[in-house]
Amino acid sequence: MSTSTAIMNTYARLPVEFSRGQGIWLYDQHNKAYLDALSGIAVCGLGHAHPAVTEAICRQAGQLLHTSNLYHISSQQRLAERLCAISGMDNVFFCNSGAEANEAAIKMARLFGHKKGIDIPNILVFDHAFHGRTLATLSASGNRKIQAGFEPLTKGFVRAPYDDLAAVETIAKNNPNIVAVLVEPVQGEGGVHIASAAFLDGLRRLCDEHDWLLMLDEVQTGNGRTGQYFAFQHHDWLPDVLSTAKGLGNGIPVGATFAHGKAAGLFGPGNHGSTFGGNPFATSVALATVTTLVDDGVVANAAQMGDYLLKGLQQRLGDKPFVRQIRGHGLMLGIELNRDCGELVGKALEQGLLINVTAGSVIRLLPPLIISTDEADQLLDGIDRLLSDFS
Ligand code: PLP
Repeated sequence: MSTSTAIMNTYARLPVEFSRGQGIWLYDQHNKAYLDALSGIAVCGLGHAHPAVTEAICRQAGQLLHTSNLYHISSQQRLAERLCAISGMDNVFFCNSGAEANEAAIKMARLFGHKKGIDIPNILVFDHAFHGRTLATLSASGNRKIQAGFEPLTKGFVRAPYDDLAAVETIAKNNPNIVAVLVEPVQGEGGVHIASAAFLDGLRRLCDEHDWLLMLDEVQTGNGRTGQYFAFQHHDWLPDVLSTAKGLGNGIPVGATFAHGKAAGLFGPGNHGSTFGGNPFATSVALATVTTLVDDGVVANAAQMGDYLLKGLQQRLGDKPFVRQIRGHGLMLGIELNRDCGELVGKALEQGLLINVTAGSVIRLLPPLIISTDEADQLLDGIDRLLSDFS
């Protein structure tokens, strides 16, 4: 199976094409079933062909796809109100992807800085972070591989080690130009590293003390993935800015940047925009997705099944000499091995299991949030089989 040369060569693709999906299962052209433990990289939280999503798509496609943000869009307003009610944030800007949602956050931080009289506003970001592939977001990311060749990078980012509050405190003392912190509650692409509660609580405190914006990148952790609608809801405070995308539309491209308190009035007419952002189609499908995630107990299921899978992985793999650490926050799970293990992705595919390996040696599992106990057992069996001859 080869990819047409008419497609730019930006992805190393696996030798499979899926023709349909149902729940947590994908089927190839020969009708072979694959347990999808990746959800299109944390997108299809409701799995594949969920009836509520299909219904919203069909209804809205027959009614109206796109108008423009020059006009009122009632589904956009309903989605905004529902998400603000769920999160406690004040308002939201809709776009089409995670990188765009972070671009809006970065622009808000700069506006905030300029309003305070800081001419060269800096944003504090972290080692191993991933915020996207646009020029500003790859500059904010902490991974040389995605930056190399695209210099000059966007200026205005200062970097600290992740989960190291003392380092942030030192930077705070020495850099008067910092206006915001941009951080992932769990670094997904960076290897499923979970920030400690003390780190995130400490960042909130430091942001208050220094009048910085706390900006959470919840592109991957949002929309139920960690067992709360947003990962910050495991804490008792609100961020000032929050970006999300991925699971918000269950496969329809949609992203969002939320603001609260002093950040909520930063953007005015003409400051930001998007032709497609928040259009009737995307927001109707996202509204059906969000409603189902919350009202049908899917987020609660993610919390329960996340615990179940983490315990199961620890029981089955905890004492294997080649397993360094097993980490999990809801249905964001990582198994760190003692050496690079990219070859496991192809092996898993052969046995009908879709996984991902990130940061070289971390098996990343991001199953649909609707996964049942029986399916979780099948996933555990699959991982067991996959690692049975790994040494
Ligand atoms: N931020 C985080 C935390 C992500 O995980 C990703 C994608 O993996 C992005 C931003 C970029 O999102 P997108 O690919 O939709 O631009």
